[in-house]
Amino acid sequence: MALLEVNKINKSYGSKKAMDDISFKVEAGRIVGLIGPNGAGKSTTMRAITGLMSYSSGNIQFDGQPITFGNHNALDKIGNLIEYPAIYPNLTALEHLKLYAMDTKNPADFATLMKKTQIDGENFGKRKAKNFSLGMKQRLGIAIALIRNPKLVILDEPMNGLDPQSVHDLRRLIRDLADDGVAFLISSHLLDELQKLVDDIVIINHGKIIETSTMTAFFSHDKIRWLFNTSDNQKALTVALENHWIADMEDGKLQISGAEQLQDVITVLNNSGIKIESLNTITGNLEKSLLDMLANDDKGE
Ligand code: ATP
Repeated sequence: MALLEVNKINKSYGSKKAMDDISFKVEAGRIVGLIGPNGAGKSTTMRAITGLMSYSSGNIQFDGQPITFGNHNALDKIGNLIEYPAIYPNLTALEHLKLYAMDTKNPADFATLMKKTQIDGENFGKRKAKNFSLGMKQRLGIAIALIRNPKLVILDEPMNGLDPQSVHDLRRLIRDLADDGVAFLISSHLLDELQKLVDDIVIINHGKIIETSTMTAFFSHDKIRWLFNTSDNQKALTVALENHWIADMEDGKLQISGAEQLQDVITVLNNSGIKIESLNTITGNLEKSLLDMLANDDKGE
């Protein structure tokens, strides 16, 4: 059984279906991206998983226990940062952790947690939260989300408003924690950033899940392209087409895709007496693939 299992949950606002048979799973230690356009149902889904939102049918199982609006037993092991963390302007980072740890029997060790989330530097110390930058507040928010040693952390748009260095630090922190076995469910509209971070994706549109996949499978071999510069690009193009690969010229370079493996292409070109002078691999682009997928989905509406 997966750590989190969301099974066919539904919620309507009047005639509007905010969640329409939503089902997906999150395995321990995986970083899962919940993505979709504005109004797709991401926040509603995250709120249902954190017990903040009722749903009319279906069920949510976390670590073998049900989560409903009225039953919060399982929530002790879920940390969340949905929109902005509740931060008190006149408290320091450590005072926040002490405050949020008050109703927990076994909170995380403060010093370790502060080090891990990089809120232990001289920038913090005696400084009150009203003087924190957005990045500092976001890291404190994540530290608060981790105070109960959660198995799952839910982050809604955690990169919003962060500068590139803070985004980079946040990504590293999330990856480190995932390596320790913590699972993440993250929504973000910064798809380039999300693409660098997540292991799995769940795509939602008009309240419905339209795709669940690992990132690797999502960008399976037919979405990877190779750009070659060779001793004879024209001949290489002919050879590639003869092998039934997809091939054309792009900015003077030969673009090939659709082969099972890069090694197959290299071998065939070499055997045809063509010398490879340079080679770039271009992987899939989440943003572009997502837009294509949404356009297709909307066509079927
Ligand atoms: P965004 O990225 O804009 O936050 P989202 O994917 O998180 O979007 P939700 O906030 O979950 O989307 O909203 C899903 C749908 O439910 C939207 O059509 C929204 O207008 C509607 N909705 C959300 N909350 C309410 C509410 N309290 N009353 C009525 N409709 C609502």
